[in-house]
Amino acid sequence: MEAFRADGHLTNEMLMVLVQSPELLPEELTRLETAEHLAFCDDCLHRYMELLEGGPLLVPARSCEKTLWSHIRIRAIRNAVSRYATAAAAVALALTMLWGSPRMDFTPSLPLPAEERTSVSRQLTGLTGELNDSLRGAVGGISDFLNGFRPVS
Ligand SMILES: [Zn+2]
Repeated sequence: MEAFRADGHLTNEMLMVLVQSPELLPEELTRLETAEHLAFCDDCLHRYMELLEGGPLLVPARSCEKTLWSHIRIRAIRNAVSRYATAAAAVALALTMLWGSPRMDFTPSLPLPAEERTSVSRQLTGLTGELNDSLRGAVGGISDFLNGFRPVS
């Protein structure tokens, strides 16, 4: 089998062997010369690519669809958490502060009597409890929302 034509390009027979059964290539030196020629000759590479288009496509041993869906889901969760968690916490904190304080008095006042100090500390404890509940609700809502991102099987 001739590998090269008189003008120096690969023969059609050689290209067909390369595409259909490369294990039948005659000898090591011919393989090296063929590979080297394909590396620099655009005409022969184009002919080789045209012959490859008609060949069978390879099928992967295992599908990557499920692992891709899990990666996409994890990425979506990370994006949503990084974008919205801080904003949700800030909104929850602001709303809790607004709803938790019935009156805002910015005028300087006298020190509170002892019984009112305990009342203030009780109010602060209640406020942090409400803040915890609000944050827990916001995070639960986000995770419920993200549970919708499941691959269709
Ligand atoms: Zn060539």
